[in-house]
Amino acid sequence: MHRANAVVVTTTLGAALEAFILEHEYCGELDSAVETDRVWMTCTCGALIVQALGPVPVP
Ligand SMILES: [Zn+2]
Repeated sequence: MHRANAVVVTTTLGAALEAFILEHEYCGELDSAVETDRVWMTCTCGALIVQALGPVPVP
């Protein structure tokens, strides 16, 4: 079900981001950034979602 260009996230995180993606995929350009402890996703309409990541395997 995941879109090829979606960020790879955990299941819980994925649900929230997936809802955001579904809401905005025809709305504007989606952009995402993954940091060590959070994931940002923005839409050109100005929407923003920030999700803190759970336990992250430290490289
Ligand atoms: Zn949007």
